[in-house]
Amino acid sequence: MPVPPQRPSSFAAPAQVASSATITEEGGVKIIHLKPPIIVRDFATTLGMKPFKLISELMEAGIFASINQSIDEAVAAKVAEKHGFLLEIKHRGEAAVPQVSKKEKEQKQAKTAAEDEEKNLTERPPVVCILGHVDHGKTSLLDAIRKANVAGGEAGGITQHIGAYQIEHNSRKITFLDTPGHAAFNKMRARGASCTDVAILVVAADDGFMPQTDEALKHAQGAAVTTMVAVNKMDVKGANLERVKQQMQERNIAPEDWGGETVTVPVSALKGTGLSDLLDMILLQADVLELKANPKAEASGVVIESQVDVGRGPLATLLVQRGTIKVGDAVVCGAQWCKVRAMFNDKGENIKEAPPSYPVRVIGWSGAPESGAQFKVVKNAREAENLAEEEQMLIKKTATTAASAPKNISVDQLFADIAANQAKVLKLIIKTDVFGSTEAVRHVLDGIKSTKVSVEVVSTDVGLVTKNDVLMAGTGGAVVIGFNTKLEPGVSPLAKHHGVRIDTFGIIYELADKVKEMMADLLEPDLKEVKLGAAEVRATFPLAKGFVAGCLVTEGKITRNAHARLRRKKDIVAEGRIDTLKRFKDDANEVRAGLECGIKLGDFNGYDAGDVIEVYEVQKVRASL
Ligand code: GDP
Repeated sequence: MPVPPQRPSSFAAPAQVASSATITEEGGVKIIHLKPPIIVRDFATTLGMKPFKLISELMEAGIFASINQSIDEAVAAKVAEKHGFLLEIKHRGEAAVPQVSKKEKEQKQAKTAAEDEEKNLTERPPVVCILGHVDHGKTSLLDAIRKANVAGGEAGGITQHIGAYQIEHNSRKITFLDTPGHAAFNKMRARGASCTDVAILVVAADDGFMPQTDEALKHAQGAAVTTMVAVNKMDVKGANLERVKQQMQERNIAPEDWGGETVTVPVSALKGTGLSDLLDMILLQADVLELKANPKAEASGVVIESQVDVGRGPLATLLVQRGTIKVGDAVVCGAQWCKVRAMFNDKGENIKEAPPSYPVRVIGWSGAPESGAQFKVVKNAREAENLAEEEQMLIKKTATTAASAPKNISVDQLFADIAANQAKVLKLIIKTDVFGSTEAVRHVLDGIKSTKVSVEVVSTDVGLVTKNDVLMAGTGGAVVIGFNTKLEPGVSPLAKHHGVRIDTFGIIYELADKVKEMMADLLEPDLKEVKLGAAEVRATFPLAKGFVAGCLVTEGKITRNAHARLRRKKDIVAEGRIDTLKRFKDDANEVRAGLECGIKLGDFNGYDAGDVIEVYEVQKVRASL
């Protein structure tokens, strides 16, 4: 459980700093020993940081993880180094690190040994995600693979979209994450890809590598996930496999037949060709990776997606990574818990238990858990509820601490800062009711074109707008956009507190308009001159100091202090403000057309009869995108 948030002052003895981490000192070097998954909150505690600080550091590095999410080891190692620590990750099967309490240590070692003893480990299916540029065929490929498999003989059940599915090929199973496009990419990024074994980079044979392909590749490489390339659309006229291979070589991921190591499979999602080869290759990669898990351990894993169903309440798709989850189990996931009432697979079938790599939709939650968060099975419902409550308290506490700590950026401040830094990027956190809506929102956002401001979608997710979204937005300087969804209780005041802007919409075009407005507001407003009136000089009168022009207002009105310029014929002779405005002997604030008045323009004195004084106002208007 969460441990005191201070860094131990002495490192002489091993110190327990977070649930599974210890710090030792060897030769003056502080070493953090921990076991994956590396959860943001625990890791921050270990480093002696506020979770928010860590979240924002991660964001700076382009990694978007919330407090309950895990980050990948390479990223954690970098962060640790920055804070003067060395990171030593203990993988399963490796010796546990000495803990403070001897008893605890013995218990832990005995348990880990029993759970992960080699003989208890069995092969588990690979978990695969598909990445690539928009329109290169990710969705088509996912559909084609799934359909081919259903046609392959599996009877019964209606295919359900639960965020992941499992197929069988050559009597072996493969799990695919099927959150399409950007959503999958962002989710994977948020989770540090911790639940994926193999990433398939889809490249259209006609287009070749595109910006998002490179972005996806960079991420997969950063997360150290085995990457394969599927060259899709081999059926189209301009298909050029050689060019894609050339591009792969240029990116240091040369294909196998060019002497490199990257498995490359030409496919056509449309015609269904090459799919079997692709699946063969995935299984081959799985063999190389020797993917194993202990199905008898206490179940744990990651939330793939969650939503609130009107009839069935909160639902979550879990991907089991270790152990076997069963109906009746008590599960805790961040601030939510669940007594598993029922489980369904991607074919809509009611199932009783789910082993490692098996995606299941679980019913019985207290609230929708965050996608990307880690879940684990605990002893009983009471323990699950207690743990969830503790987590809620912690979130609340962290929220208040963050509020009293250096203030989060307010919306106005945020917009001002962005303007000052010339960083014209509008960051959005998007929450929707269902995945279809997420795609729709992305689609309209992609349709907003601007050379001056760009939109960066920090994360997209399904479900209510949560406190975590607010905290994430507060740290990252993002705006939360909800589409067809509502706010979780307590979110509004928290957002107010942190100066986070939340806008919810039910109509997609209204959403688009608002986003455009927000983008435009990041730009310096355009200045527009609006003519208020004009007056003609008829005579000049001496004053104690200088002259005043006796005028007839010919148009509109003359207002005191307004901007003005004096024209003689076409030339502008003087510019300034209307310093003095008089009706007869009295000062006036404004004089309308048809009336006479005395005007003094700044410290100008050389008026001539026939000069025209034009008065105007400068209005700020929203800049165009
Ligand atoms: P995504 O944005 O990467 O998910 O791409 P989609 O799966 O939505 O595909 C984009 C477009 O390419 C759609 O019009 C598909 O019908 C088309 N497409 C996808 N795969 C193939 C293919 O193998 N051959 C051809 N000719 N078209 C394809």
